[in-house]
Amino acid sequence: MNGGPPIRKSPVILYGVLLLLSAAIIAGVAARLLSREQARLDSSVRETEELRLQNRAEQLELAVSAVQDGLMRSLESIPASALRDTLREMERTNPLVRNVFVWRGANDLLLPNDSEPLTKEEQGFLIRYSTLFDGTHGWDEVVQEDEYAAPVSRRLFSRSRGWNPPMHSGWIPWYWENRLGMIGWMERDGLRYGVELEMAMLLCELQQAMPLDIVDGRMILLLDGSGRRIMQSGSIAETSGTSAVLSVPVGPALPHWELALHTTDGALGPAAQRYALLSGLLVFILFIVLFSAGGLLLRETVRNRLEAQQKTTFVSNVSHELKTPLTTIRMYAELLGEGRVSDIEKRGRYLKTIASESERLSRLVNNVLDFSRLEQNRKQYRISHFDLCEVVSETVASQRIRIGEAGMELSVVLPNVTAMVKSDRDAVQQVLLNLIDNAVKYAAAGGRLTIELAEASGGFRIAVADAGPGIAKEHRRKIYERFYRIDDSITASSQGSGLGLSLSRRLITDLGGALEYHEAECGGACFVMTVPGVENR
Ligand code: ADP
Repeated sequence: MNGGPPIRKSPVILYGVLLLLSAAIIAGVAARLLSREQARLDSSVRETEELRLQNRAEQLELAVSAVQDGLMRSLESIPASALRDTLREMERTNPLVRNVFVWRGANDLLLPNDSEPLTKEEQGFLIRYSTLFDGTHGWDEVVQEDEYAAPVSRRLFSRSRGWNPPMHSGWIPWYWENRLGMIGWMERDGLRYGVELEMAMLLCELQQAMPLDIVDGRMILLLDGSGRRIMQSGSIAETSGTSAVLSVPVGPALPHWELALHTTDGALGPAAQRYALLSGLLVFILFIVLFSAGGLLLRETVRNRLEAQQKTTFVSNVSHELKTPLTTIRMYAELLGEGRVSDIEKRGRYLKTIASESERLSRLVNNVLDFSRLEQNRKQYRISHFDLCEVVSETVASQRIRIGEAGMELSVVLPNVTAMVKSDRDAVQQVLLNLIDNAVKYAAAGGRLTIELAEASGGFRIAVADAGPGIAKEHRRKIYERFYRIDDSITASSQGSGLGLSLSRRLITDLGGALEYHEAECGGACFVMTVPGVENR
């Protein structure tokens, strides 16, 4: 745990939940808006497609009208004197004419006539239209003067669009055995005469009017009243049960017939699908961006709070650390000043204490000053060649009394050769002092301190090993963070600022070396600092 009071977790969790909720709400609203927009787009795509299909249906209807108009004109131009002969001639020569007739009234058919031998075709014709010729169904039952009627009746009278007949005339779509037939008639001198349309030929004409500009993955079908496929434009791989995406009635000229649009994927356009995909992706990105931006802000806030707490703790720790040696120094200085200590040995001890406490003070002040210089990138190193053996011996000599007073047995191992390095002497000494100081503070109970200088690859290493409690695995990385102190009983009872190791590692890495923690053989702490040799810098 850190030296300062820990950040309370519950508000952080609450902020996180609030953040998640608000990001989810915003993303939800965006998704809703996008889905509405999608529905609008879908319906406009549908409307456009419907209009296009209706337009095609109209073309079919126009084609029917053109055929009907042509036949009507032919009927009109027949001279009254040669009515029968001309009709027979039409039947023979015009492929659009299947049968012809002349009708005078109910059950009074002049052509074809029972009294003459009837062909099979004529017999069928009379059977098909028997209820019309026997007067059961009136010819004018459904008459729309100016527009086509909706196919409300089984038979429907319709007038062609482009042609205005001078006489009473019309076309009757006629369903027989679920098949559509058509009769065109004209009234003159009390007679109704006309033709039955050859539907096969009409379909040939319609074929020309069927759309050819079909894009891949689409198919338009012309279906009759019973859903039979009459014509097809375009083709798709059909699976059973494929239903039409859109269908529109062809119109009163072909009652109950419809044009149906099929697509491979059952959807009207890839645009709508792409839009759905894109909007889903956008909503997802929006959510991620909101959530991560909020998360970053939250993290930053927590970090700032933590740092503020650490700084407060740091100030109080440092003040405490300054106060203790100052009190000791003042106390001993006063005793000596008043001349009340006559014992020379005692005097000597007091003076040593004053000296070592002042050292502690200057070490602390150095640490704090270096820390602030490093934070502001103002730290300047004074690089020189020096013998590391000398630095180690000098530092150890200055600390020997303190180590002894802490009840620790000190052993120092130095190499036989000189250990020349090129580095900042003061900085290296400061790091070594920090390590010895920590060992005295936290591992005095172990009773042993070993300082060993040895050659290492690329330079020299100084190991400061104690027989104290060591550092638990979970703290080993964090001890190098600034202000970090392990909050256990030993740390709690020793003064510290949480700066020593963070500062030491920074100094030593700036100088091209390293500071690492190893577990000492007896379980204690072993800090190893490496300093690059002369050639390696
Ligand atoms: P400070 O000593 O001022 O608290 P440091 O950065 O020097 O700060 O040390 C960080 C923490 O690492 C200390 O609080 C202590 O808990 C732990 N520590 C350092 N050295 C040792 C050691 N030799 N043995 C056990 N714990 C140590």
